[in-house]
Amino acid sequence: MDYRDTPHYSTRPTLRVDLQQIRANYDALKAKVGTAKIGASVKADAYGLGAVPVGKALYGAGCRIFFVATAGEGKLLRDGLGPNAAIYVLNGPAPRDRGVLLGAKLKPVINSIEQARFWASVSAEVNDPPYTAIHIDTGMNRLGLTLDEVTELSRDKKLWNALTPEWVMSHLACAGDAGNPMNKIQLDRFRKAAAQFPLTPLSLANTAGIYLGKPYHFQMVRPGIGLYGGVATTKPGQEVGAPAATLLAPILQVRYIQKGETVGYNGTFTAPRDMRIAVVGAGYADGIPVSESNHGYAILHDERVPIIGRVSMDLTIIDATNAKLSVEVGGVVAFRGNQLEIEAKSAHTLNYELLVRLGQRCRRDYWKKKDVST
Ligand SMILES: *Cc1c(COP(=O)(O)O)cnc(C)c1O
Repeated sequence: MDYRDTPHYSTRPTLRVDLQQIRANYDALKAKVGTAKIGASVKADAYGLGAVPVGKALYGAGCRIFFVATAGEGKLLRDGLGPNAAIYVLNGPAPRDRGVLLGAKLKPVINSIEQARFWASVSAEVNDPPYTAIHIDTGMNRLGLTLDEVTELSRDKKLWNALTPEWVMSHLACAGDAGNPMNKIQLDRFRKAAAQFPLTPLSLANTAGIYLGKPYHFQMVRPGIGLYGGVATTKPGQEVGAPAATLLAPILQVRYIQKGETVGYNGTFTAPRDMRIAVVGAGYADGIPVSESNHGYAILHDERVPIIGRVSMDLTIIDATNAKLSVEVGGVVAFRGNQLEIEAKSAHTLNYELLVRLGQRCRRDYWKKKDVST
């Protein structure tokens, strides 16, 4: 390759996010839940894909309810989306976040009696305090009021009114596995607890919960991974989303090595024959996990090519010996995309983790229209 002929060639990886696909996934999930609203989970920078551009795309598709984890994430989203989006902060209110929550009009999710009391005291001090959602723990033992605390709250009308709750919600622990008895147990507990607040609308399902069917939908569902095209359940065939993010890593060098040579740090890979290998510009700093060393795959011209040797911080080495099409400096290999679940398996992790770790250093390329090609 003559560098001067390829002005767009860069050693930096690109995270390509198909916003049109994310909107299509939103529409498809919406169609599954009928009249229930969608509250989009855009926490952790929209699972690594960019909370503001993703949030704007969803807003454009009609979404007006968003969930983030922290007040800081909420503030960034507020600045991006303007005043008409309802933004809930899943981790709840805390003293240090008071100013950000109030300033950006973020709605805290109340996860405990302590958070309830704290937010009631904040609300008493200001005009127009943001409304809240009340989170009940129905068996996950993560965040949320215990069932006893729910009863306590239902009896304390003053506290309840001070919180101005707009939603009562809970979260499913095992929704990806439709056969797990935990789902029905949580549904029953949720119904029973929520009956103490008959006027407040309810929300239970994440992406996987949507596939458990109508009894789990209530008045709002809260998908995250499904919007981004990640598989959420043990039956991918039933799912309506398609992948929306791909990491493209530039080929930096192509080498021909001889049988017996080793590759990468610690020489963890020994060439079983003469090989053609390619060194690509993305490593664990870009979200290619070290656990994919000698395990995972990249995609080269729609073919799967194995990762060889140890993934390093900025670089990954692939076996391109059998690649049918050209392998040359200036080309790219892809990670994730429709291989997300396969990669997650070979990396011994979740598709969620692989998505969320992408793109810290990448150039981001947001596709708004399907027919654009770069
Ligand atoms: C992250 C999260 C969601 C979204 O979950 P997905 O599995 O990505 O659909 C919904 N609700 C709560 C409370 C969450 O923490």
